[in-house]
Amino acid sequence: MDEALIDCRACPRLVAWREQVARDKRAAFRDEAYWGRPVTGFGPSDAAMLVVGLAPAAHGGNRTGRMFTGDRSGDVLFAALYAVGAATQPTAIARDDGLRLLGTRVTAPVHCAPPDNKPTVAERDTCRHWLITELELLAPTVRAIVVLGAWGWQALLPALDRAGWQVPRPRPKFGHGVHYSIEPARSGRRDLELFGSYHVSQQNTFTGRLTPTMLEQVLTTAATAAGLTLTPPRPTPDR
Ligand code: SF4
Repeated sequence: MDEALIDCRACPRLVAWREQVARDKRAAFRDEAYWGRPVTGFGPSDAAMLVVGLAPAAHGGNRTGRMFTGDRSGDVLFAALYAVGAATQPTAIARDDGLRLLGTRVTAPVHCAPPDNKPTVAERDTCRHWLITELELLAPTVRAIVVLGAWGWQALLPALDRAGWQVPRPRPKFGHGVHYSIEPARSGRRDLELFGSYHVSQQNTFTGRLTPTMLEQVLTTAATAAGLTLTPPRPTPDR
């Protein structure tokens, strides 16, 4: 799926934007070769926990070619994943930085960087089949999903329906810390625990709406629900 995804050109506005950003670059990164293509999910293909964001950032994932890598949102997310034991290091700066996720995969409902971080409804719907396929491929192992933000939540629920789970009606409402159990709708699926967290955008993290502790609490609860046994790093002793 990932090999096919990186060649997708289905959304003309996003293709034009991702490539323009890759050509123009931000001054701080002018010596770098931008990725400028769809950004795949990151993490093992047999993950028990899936984290769903919104879309790659123009100078983050669209530059480095790895989801949430090289931007402030990713700094917060990967630091939290490291703190709960789901990542091998707290920083994510480039595709070859050695970071590995443990039992955890990170993806987004839209795989190309959108202008102003705002995909249109049509772009979200056009990209949905990739999320459905990713969910179907993860179905044998995935037990918990953490959704970052209301936009991702709204994008995920119909994909879950199509991928073989029975999303309740009325639809579960997004909120920070909410938790719903989603039942399977076909064989080959198992119960899925769905969690909400505020998005790791600067708008939330700079204002204190989302703190590292709040995010770590949701990730820890979801990891436990997913059956993951994670070992958080030992605190560095004071010298
Ligand atoms: Fe393809 Fe999704 Fe990118 Fe649209 S957003 S071009 S569907 S990968």
